Amino acid sequence: MNHPKLVVGNWKMNPATVAEAKKIASRIKIATAKLEHTDVVICPPLAFIAPCSGRGKHHKMLMGAQTVSPETESGPHTGEVSVMMLRDLGVEYVIVGHSEQRKRGDTDEMVSRRLKAVLESGLTPILCIGETVRDDSGAYLGSLKNQIKASCADISYKDAKKIIIAYEPIWAIGATEAMKPEDIYETSLFVKKVFSDLFGAETSSKIKVLYGGSVTFRNAHDIMVIGKVDGLLVGRESVNAPGFIELIKVVDGIK
Ligand code: PEP
Repeated sequence: MNHPKLVVGNWKMNPATVAEAKKIASRIKIATAKLEHTDVVICPPLAFIAPCSGRGKHHKMLMGAQTVSPETESGPHTGEVSVMMLRDLGVEYVIVGHSEQRKRGDTDEMVSRRLKAVLESGLTPILCIGETVRDDSGAYLGSLKNQIKASCADISYKDAKKIIIAYEPIWAIGATEAMKPEDIYETSLFVKKVFSDLFGAETSSKIKVLYGGSVTFRNAHDIMVIGKVDGLLVGRESVNAPGFIELIKVVDGIK
């Protein structure tokens, strides 16, 4: 396990109002004050980043964004938000290649452009990869490998060390059950092996691999311990303040 452990909350398009968002964020901030071995990042919708943000003396909650424009220069890019703008808001992490974004049209090439924009700006990318189905023949391993290769095309060895991989099997996102921890372990080893083939064993040993897909405070311990991942990417449970706070405590308590 690479330390500190990392828990990332992907709020998706939730909650409905800024007042609710601020309430959830402030409860999480208070809970992070006591953490010793875990970094916690929340990724609210863009409109709520500023109201929820603020690195403070009394908490350790960090800010992330759910996506970013591949364009790095200001200009005629209606609807886009750049890495510089996110950085100015106090954002330190950016999710790229989430399956819900890929479903809306993000190709591997687009994911790779977003990834490069994040790396160039000095922010930390959380690169999501994951198979649609887990077939018995193991073809899903090939598709994971291709996703990593295509998303990380033209990335230098130096930059590769800064990438966090979030392995999120698409069939386990928004589902009733997470993937089995034993299978998570096996797949995270495979991800590290692909990274090692691309960027060398040293880089591969340093990168963090997170698991995402129906994580709750109830299954977080086994996923971390048996799945041997470096952290978690949490969707629905991350906007449920009591559940998320319990989850980060569980993770922090793991030696
Ligand atoms: C996600 O959207 O990244 C995710 C993991 O969602 P959930 O935890 O709700 O399955």
